[in-house]
This record gives sequence, C-alpha cells and structure tokens, in this order.
Amino acid sequence: MKAVVLEQFGPPEVLKYGDVGDLKPKQDEVLIKVVAAGVNRVDVWIRTGKYKVQLPHVLGVDVAGEVVSSPAPQLKEGDRVVVFPDMPCGRCRFCMSGRFQLCPNGSRLGSSRWGGYAEFVTAPAQTVIPVPGGLSLEEAAALPVNYCTAWHALITDAGIGPGMKVLVVGGSSGVGIAATQIACLCGAEVISIVGDDWKEERAYRVGASLVLNRKKTSVVEEVMKATAGEGVEIVLEMAGTPFWEQALQCLAPGGTLVTVGATAGDIVSFNVRPFYRKYQRIIGSGMGTQSEFLKVLELAGKGRLRPVIDKIFSLREATEAHRRLEAGEHFGKILLRP
Ligand SMILES: [Zn+2]
Repeated sequence: MKAVVLEQFGPPEVLKYGDVGDLKPKQDEVLIKVVAAGVNRVDVWIRTGKYKVQLPHVLGVDVAGEVVSSPAPQLKEGDRVVVFPDMPCGRCRFCMSGRFQLCPNGSRLGSSRWGGYAEFVTAPAQTVIPVPGGLSLEEAAALPVNYCTAWHALITDAGIGPGMKVLVVGGSSGVGIAATQIACLCGAEVISIVGDDWKEERAYRVGASLVLNRKKTSVVEEVMKATAGEGVEIVLEMAGTPFWEQALQCLAPGGTLVTVGATAGDIVSFNVRPFYRKYQRIIGSGMGTQSEFLKVLELAGKGRLRPVIDKIFSLREATEAHRRLEAGEHFGKILLRP
C-alpha cells in the first residue's frame, strides 16, 4: 500500500510518500480502507522527535474509512467506521478504576502503532465504531482527538455547567472549535481567542459570544470588561509559554485553568500567591476515553456537534498539510485523503 512514511525526525519535508508493503491484520484486528485521516499537533510532535516512536513510522491518530475485513461479526465489509485511537490494557490499576486515559501500557494509533496517513490501517476490533448516518467520513475523522480532548477537559475535568463563562485560547484550532461547541451545548458562554482578523467571524459562527484577536486587543482587559471584572470560571489553555500568565489573570476566584497542550512553548512561570489566595486550580488534561467518544459521536450524528473542516489534502501533500498547521493558517480540521 501507499503511505506517508517517517524515516527520520525533522521538518515537514521528512514526510515521504511511497510504498510500505501490505498490512496483515492480527486475529483481533479490523482492516480498514482509509477515507480520511486527521492532521494533529501530536503528529507534529512525533515528526519533530518531541515524542519518540519507533522508525519507520506512519503517523495519523484520527482515522475514518470502510471495513475491508473484520473478526467481529457486527462489522461487515464496506461498513463506514471511525477508530478510537487508544486501546488501554484493561488490567492496570488505572484501567481497573475506569481511568483508561491514564493507562501506561496501552497502544495508540499513529503513535505506538502505524496510523492513518496511509491507504489502509489496522485497529483492534473493540476500537472500531460505526459512523452514524448523518455524518460524513471526513467529519468523523475530525472528531476523535479534538472532540475527546475538549470533552474530557471541559466536562470531566473542569466541571463545566450552564451559565459558566469559558475562555478558549486557540479558538480557531480543532480543539478550540470543539471546545466552543461543547461549551455552548452545556449552556456555557464562550470567549474565544484568535490570531487573525479573518478568523473572528468564523469563531462567532461556531458559537462564541465574544471573539478577541490577541494581536489587536488586550485580552485580559477585554475579558475583565466582559465579565464585570470577575474573570472566567474556566480557561482552556493550549499555547503554553506565551499566554500562560494572561490566562491566569483572566481566571475568576475559584476558577479552573485546564491545559491540553503547549503549542508555543513548554515552560511557564507565574505568581503563585494570587493563585492560592483565589483558590484556583490548574489541571493537566488530554485525550478522553472511548465512552466519552461514543457520546461525541452520537451528538455529532444528530448534528448537535459539527466539526469544521479547514482543508483536505491528498496523502502526497502531507508535507504541505503539516506546514499549514504549523503556520496557523487553518481554521478547523486539516485532513488527508489517500
Ligand atoms: Zn491499563
């Protein structure tokens, strides 16, 4: 089969399109013909060597496609499916207590096993889920990483609820859009931060009640103005270094900052005194669980969550797709199609 192969870590040009031989699914695995694969920040971190994987490697955590062969009788050839990328071990103390996202022994599609930047992919049958009729395979491929991350951070970790005010940093990213939609679904109000004029209108369209261009306005000042000087109950942070202090300044007493990334820098510093005196919390979060994904998929099937597709590239254009993501030229999900 054809695939985008990573043979060395480095810039986008290290992504090479070529033949990799055919996949042989194991006894419990489904063979899937890939129709769409998501491009994620984690792919960039693997490509650059920040997250180590065994080389040669095929990236791609988000995958949707059609079943070619399956050991599970409920999955038939031609069925439209999406893969939940994580397969926890089911035996460790985290799995035993239902905290599957903490499992240290599990496998992840596109990381510890070959992913969706290819014509075909294999996945354990338990992780292969039928796509509801109302959803295209492209939309389905845009869901797992972004929507499970936003769901887990806002609902499970930060305890979002009706009437709460949420600041979404990176409002034009896949996670940012997912977070905006999920927050609105919960009856919360979203202030979304973007970095370009043309993204403002689009951020309003996905549900934000206030959109701030961080290059043009003082975010802290505007957030305080919009919240009667109190700040927001939840900040969803993903930039890391450059926005950390401002993010904390936007947080209300008793508020929660939940961080799901460090796209612009890993190391942060902040004044701990106002932080503890205001009884605030910081939570590290990431990919959610398969049961959360089933809820996301159900809501997306009913049109209550609707992923925004930025651009679809062919597999051969994986290098350009990574450049677009890294340059922040996108609004929504970047996909690859074999
Ligand atoms: Zn486990």
